[in-house]
Formats: sequence, C-alpha cells, structure tokens
Amino acid sequence: MKRLRNLVLVLGDQLDLEASAFNAFDAKQDAVWMAEAREESTHVWSSKQRIALFLSAMRHFAQALRAAGRPLHYHRLDDTGHVAVLETLGAKLRADLMTLAPERVVMTAPGDWRVFHQLKAVVEAAGLTLEVCEDCHFFTTVSDFATHAKGRKSLRLEYFYRELRQRHNILMDDGQPAGGQWNFDTDNRETFGTKGPGVLPPRSAFKPDSITNSVITLVNTLFADHPGTLDSFAWPVTRTQALQALQRFIDERLALFGRYEDALWPGEPWLYHSHLSSAMNLKLLSAREVVQAAEMAYRAGHVPLQSAEGFIRQILGWREYVRGIYWTQMPGYIERNALGAEENLPTWFWTGNTDMACLRDALTQTLEHGYAHHIQRLMVTGLFTLLLGVRPQQVHAWYLSVYVDAVEWVELPNTLGMSQYGDGGLMASKPYVATGKYIQRMGGPCKGCRYDPALREGDKACPYTTLYWDFLIRHEPLLAKNARMALQVKNLTRMTDSQKQAVKLRADTIRRGAVGVAQ
Ligand SMILES: Cc1cc2nc3c(=O)[nH]c(=O)nc-3n(C[C@H](O)[C@H](O)[C@H](O)COP(=O)(O)OP(=O)(O)OC[C@H]3O[C@@H](n4cnc5c(N)ncnc54)[C@H](O)[C@@H]3O)c2cc1C
Ligand code: SF4
Repeated sequence: MKRLRNLVLVLGDQLDLEASAFNAFDAKQDAVWMAEAREESTHVWSSKQRIALFLSAMRHFAQALRAAGRPLHYHRLDDTGHVAVLETLGAKLRADLMTLAPERVVMTAPGDWRVFHQLKAVVEAAGLTLEVCEDCHFFTTVSDFATHAKGRKSLRLEYFYRELRQRHNILMDDGQPAGGQWNFDTDNRETFGTKGPGVLPPRSAFKPDSITNSVITLVNTLFADHPGTLDSFAWPVTRTQALQALQRFIDERLALFGRYEDALWPGEPWLYHSHLSSAMNLKLLSAREVVQAAEMAYRAGHVPLQSAEGFIRQILGWREYVRGIYWTQMPGYIERNALGAEENLPTWFWTGNTDMACLRDALTQTLEHGYAHHIQRLMVTGLFTLLLGVRPQQVHAWYLSVYVDAVEWVELPNTLGMSQYGDGGLMASKPYVATGKYIQRMGGPCKGCRYDPALREGDKACPYTTLYWDFLIRHEPLLAKNARMALQVKNLTRMTDSQKQAVKLRADTIRRGAVGVAQ
C-alpha cells in the first residue's frame, strides 16, 4: 500500500478550505487530521458557549472537507476507543502518527503558543519535521511586525497601522489617507444620550441545525459544570453563515459603528458592533474580505468615512498589532505582572452575582452569549480587575474562558497588556483607569445602581471610584513617571491624608468582598 504523503493538521481556529497548508494538497496522496480534545476546553475553564462554537464549527468544517473530497481523520469527543480517551491534542496526534505513518506533517501557523509547541514536540518525537505554512489570513507576518518593532523604544499602534494602510492601499487616495486624516477616533466617542439608542437592528442569529444541536447536548452533558448557558446559542458556524453575518453588518450596523463605538447601554449587548470576531478568529471569514467589504461600503457612499476607518483600524490595526506582540513576546509575556497585582479574581465573575449594575450587565450577557463589546471588556470588567489589583494571569484565564472569540494570540495582549497594564506599557502607553463617572458618561446603568459614581467614600460610594483613587495612591511613584498620567496623578495633591486613609479603608473593604456581592 502506498504511504501517506502529507498529513495536514487543522486546528479548531483554522477552518478555511483555502488555508495555505492546503496549497499542495492532493487527495490521492494526502489526508487531513482534526481532533476534538478535552484539554482544549479544560486548560482554562471554558464557557459552554465557547466550547459549543468551536465544536460545532469544527464538525461543520469536517463536513465541508468531505464534500470537497479531502480524506479526513477526525476524532470526536464522544467517540469510543483508545484514541478517544486521550485528553490532549498531542496525545491523539502521537497515537495517529504511529498508525498513519505520514511522510510529512504540515499545518498553517497556529494561533496559540502552547498548542504549537505541544504538536511540534510530538511530530519531532516521531522523527518528522512539522512544516509550518504562513497564515495568509492576516495582512502581516510575525517577521513584518518584528521588523517594524526593531529599534523602536516604544511600540504604538498608530505607526504600524499607517504603514499597513499604505502598503495595502486601504482607504488611500493618491497616496494620502482618505479624507485627509489617518484617524477619526475623536469623532467615534458619542453616547446615546438620555433617550438611549432607540430601536437597534437585531443581531444576526443562526438557528442551531442538527449538528449544532447534537453539540449542545454533548456540551451540556460533558461540561455541565462549565460557566454560562447555551439557550441563546446563535453564532455563525459555517462560512456561508459568516458571510451572511458580514453582509448584515455592512448593511445594517456599519454606518453607525464609528459614532457609537465606545457607547454603553443597559440591557443592550449588541449595539452597532459587528459580532464578527469569532467568525474571523475561526477563519470562517478572512480579515481581508471584511476590510474590503467595509471599504467598498464607504466608496459606494453607503457609510461615512469615520465608521469605515474606525472599523478597519480595529482589524487592520489592532488585530494585526496584537498578533505581532503575542508572537514576538511569548513565552515570557504570559507571566508578566508589572504592577505586582496579587489579588484573586472575585468568584462572582463566574456567576454575575454582584450588586454593581454595570458589572452585572456585562457579566450576565457574557455568560449568556459568550460576548461583550470592547468597552465592556476594557472599561467595565477589565477596569474593575485592574483597579482591584487582580493577578493578570487570573484575569487572562477568565477572558480566555468566557468569550466565543477567545484565542490566546488576541486575548492575551488585550487582557494582560492593554487592559491590566501587566506588560508595563508595551501595549498601552498608560493604564486605562477611570472612575465610575466614565461608565456613567458612556451610558452605563448608574441610575439603577445602588452606588453613586460621584462618591469615593461611604456606603454608597461607587467601587470603581474608590478603587480608582486607591490605584493612584498605591501606584503614585510609578505613574508619576508617565507623562500621560501626570494630570491624573496631580489630582492626588488635592486630597488630605485623612481622605486618602478613608479611600484605603473602603478599598480594603471592597477587596475583602464585603462590598459588591449581591445580597
Ligand atoms: C480585555 C480584553 C480582552 C479581549 N479579548 C479578545 C479575544 O479573546 N478575542 C478577540 O477577538 N478580541 C478580543 N478583544 C478585542 C475586542 O474587544 C473584541 O475583538 C471585540 O469586542 C469583538 O466584538 P466585535 O466582533 O463585535 O467587534 P467590533 O467592535 O465590531 O470590532 C470589529 C473587529 O475588530 C477586531 N478588534 C477590535 N478591537 C480589537 C482589539 N483590541 N484587538 C484585536 N482585534 C480587535 C475584532 O476582530 C472585531 O471583530 C479583547 C479586548 C479586551 C479589552
Ligand atoms: S455606580 Fe459604579 S458600580 Fe454602579 S453602575 Fe455606575 S459605575 Fe457601575
């Protein structure tokens, strides 16, 4: 019998028939390998939404591979047999390399350092070399980023983003940025005012089919004690659905995306965001086609430039940038803790059982849908853990667990770097800190909350406001060195010693858990 030539490994976030690992695929000589492994749902305590999305999308992709005539070796979590009981991707691959004995093992560059090194070690132990193909889904390579970063004292998104706009000719007119400006950030900070957002376009929801329904049953059985629920599961799990979600976003939401990018509103999880991150991260959609669709909508006069630019900056800018940070900084990055934060994550982060209205909103919708928009992640959940002083590694594990779009290359720099300042300023030029008044101003639910964002002391003091001042007091020497924090730190001089003492006492009460838990 002829020996298997290439075994192409496909991970749960590489669901693209056009991926570069398939470039030389020949169905007569090659085969694809995919596996559902328990460890991928347990190394952090993954939410049911996240597990179900990955499994359902993988099973749908397996169907697409078979329809395309590509031979496939696929392990399901509910299979029986000696490989099925193996917990890790590495152990399953080791067993299969013995029986399949391929000449070569090929894969598209993985998104996760841990998984990459696990699989590489297994392949090398089998006497083979793991051939890694560039992930063409991204606009840049990791070495592009390394070249950009080389010799720079500090890394800032803006320069990288401008380079990419020029190199890929995106939103450019005769070599100049469209509209004469690179960035419309200052136009993108509107709130919904006192009247609220009014009628919002409904979310693109996809009714579970038989594959998704069987995955839902499986997850509810095998991972019954994992966080969240699956009652509302409606994420795109196929390329066709992802393309429909993209079109709906372009038609119905993009026009107002820029304007309300930073806004909050109680009970409204979806607002004008795209909800496309999971489809992009699973590679059901390519970042290139998403950016192109947004630019085309602008060129056709359907959406204003501020929205198209704001949206494109998130993908061409932030998304590429954080990937570069992750792959150039790992493995040490995950251990960084520049502020020496050592508190534990409050247990109610896993239940939403808090009397702080903004956090209750963000946590409840996170557990229900596996989704929160950027400002909720950065300035509600992330801000709270930063101010409380939670160990960044615990915060990272939480974010990686609960969101459907959570894959380490994008989640870790956002959490540890941008949100928790754990890398000491590599990702963000200053810690994103604010009082409860910021949340109130952006449309947070302060009116219906038992706390008052204007108060920093006393029983009704908003925990954010108390902890903000406590953060400045605790980190004053470090923050004073940062020019962008100068104004905030200067305000400390207006506080008397007894006011500072009162803040510290209340902050300690919050840290002991005596404030914040719903009664
Ligand atoms: C603490 C924290 C953790 C995060 N974890 C993740 C994560 O695990 N996975 C993830 O994809 N994003 C993460 N983000 C970035 C961002 O919050 C999400 O991409 C966004 O909320 C997803 O919702 P959306 O698709 O509706 O995004 P939209 O608001 O519609 O934005 C459009 C797209 O831009 C990209 N994008 C926006 N902001 C960022 C960013 N800061 N970094 C990278 N890409 C960005 C996403 O692909 C997103 O789909 C995190 C942000 C923070 C502050
Ligand atoms: S008062 Fe404070 S805790 Fe309550 S909703 Fe506003 S910001 Fe959140």
